[in-house]
Amino acid sequence: MQEKIIVPFVDLKLQYLSLKKEIDSAVLSVMENTTFIGGEPVTSFENNFAQACGTKHSIGVGNGTDALYIILKSLGITAGDEVITVANSWISTSETISQCGAKPVFIDIDPDYYSIDVNKIEEKITNKTKAIIPVHLFGQMAEIDKVSTLCKKHNLFLVEDCAQSHLSEYKEIEAGTTGIASAFSFYPGKNLGAYGDAGVITTNDDSLATKMRMFANHGAMVKHQHQMEGINSRLDTIQAAILNVKLPHLQKWNEQRLKNALLYNHLLADVSEITTPKINPAAKHIFHLYVIRAEKRNELMDYLTKKGIQTQIHYPTILPLLPAYNYLNHKAEDFPIASSYQDSILSLPMFPELTKEQIQLLVETIKAFYK
Ligand SMILES: *Cc1c(COP(=O)(O)O)cnc(C)c1O
Repeated sequence: MQEKIIVPFVDLKLQYLSLKKEIDSAVLSVMENTTFIGGEPVTSFENNFAQACGTKHSIGVGNGTDALYIILKSLGITAGDEVITVANSWISTSETISQCGAKPVFIDIDPDYYSIDVNKIEEKITNKTKAIIPVHLFGQMAEIDKVSTLCKKHNLFLVEDCAQSHLSEYKEIEAGTTGIASAFSFYPGKNLGAYGDAGVITTNDDSLATKMRMFANHGAMVKHQHQMEGINSRLDTIQAAILNVKLPHLQKWNEQRLKNALLYNHLLADVSEITTPKINPAAKHIFHLYVIRAEKRNELMDYLTKKGIQTQIHYPTILPLLPAYNYLNHKAEDFPIASSYQDSILSLPMFPELTKEQIQLLVETIKAFYK
């Protein structure tokens, strides 16, 4: 029998209810206007999101994975190229490299912050390397200044995977503003979530912006005038209307996530079996995910499930060790940090509306497990 859920991993209903009137009316107005592709909601969301990030352009696309693919294709990444990225991420980051015909080259993670270990990048750069994709994982940015310096030194494109880092900052640099282009996802559970698939690309480069917009729209800026072959990847109008209602609340939601994370960190500080996430002093962490390392992780996870507390693992297998990458012949020892964390990482419930009482209950339950 399914146990009663006391603390869900994420609760999207609460946020919807808090904005129900505005969201319902935004969705209905798209139907009333019958502008189902493009139109004002898309243009205004693109403008609003570019402004929120501090970039010149923002291009609405179908989802975050397409955003990465469109960027890499438009940069001319192709067969024979290598693209450097991080061993611990969602597969979109590496599968889009392969879909361009290029080879993903994986780097181990920083032991404290889980993002790409910048000290291990340079040794992997070859004359085939064309780009580096750092992922601002769990809501905390990678050391983007150092990655940027490396890219300049070796003449490589810097592409930021910002799917988990909307309005995150590092040394006062906003996510999505340093690279030649950056990919954002609005998958429902992301910090800014649509009610279906949606994504955006940000860039300050005018000609790349035009190229990416064309590629995402069958290679045409004007209908029937195809300058090249492209794909069909558009930001859905209904999703744009919803995102326009939600965007003004994002900063506040991010702050609530941070507040929840700080409470978790405080309450878990004296649990010796648990390592809580470290916040880089130079970072504005937006806690897309709250990831601990726990002794007896699987047993703890089962125990919490039985008590009605949902948890997840991000990610159960690091990218290079997935069957999809068997052909690269990687071993766990190639990524000593990321692979040594695989059996201890655990993502606890994290969303803005999580209550103090839920967090306290969760921590008490964890303490009871280790007693
Ligand atoms: C969610 C996510 C993506 C992909 O976004 P979709 O909108 O689901 O396609 C890419 N990279 C990372 C790190 C993600 O977390």
